[in-house]
Amino acid sequence: MTVFVTNAGMQILARVTWRRAAILLTTEVARNVEGTPLVRVVHSPSTTLPIHKVVAIKRNAYRPFAGKSMDSYASHATILRRDQWICAYCEGPADTVDHIVPVSRGGRSSFGNQVAACKSCNGFKAARTPREAGMALRHAPFVHDPWAQDQKEVWELFTLGFRSA
Ligand SMILES: [Zn+2]
Repeated sequence: MTVFVTNAGMQILARVTWRRAAILLTTEVARNVEGTPLVRVVHSPSTTLPIHKVVAIKRNAYRPFAGKSMDSYASHATILRRDQWICAYCEGPADTVDHIVPVSRGGRSSFGNQVAACKSCNGFKAARTPREAGMALRHAPFVHDPWAQDQKEVWELFTLGFRSA
């Protein structure tokens, strides 16, 4: 059973097992977020520990992808994952990353300037812009936040609470 770990501002930081959540709670690193579903109650001879679906770290912590923009740096691995290893030019399998504005002409390794590309499209385009190379982008680059879905779920749990049967 997965437990969401957030910072004090309810921004998702991680997903952990209930065992890991139990450690965060007993060491008082985190607290249960009241109103979110009860995942499990752990009993020991001396204590009863409820574990909720969302636990919040008490100290300040920043969410890794919060505040990323089109100008933020993105690694090749991040871009390939964002584009699901599909070439932005021919939609074939991609394992390289193309700088839309070539690096040699000031293009940056940002979310907004990189797309997944297959070797042949990347090689053909070379140090040209797509327009110069006569190539169309099948999709526009965008900022990919791998935690977006988890964050949405945390907000739903936090704002709607949990109605037990
Ligand atoms: Zn291609």
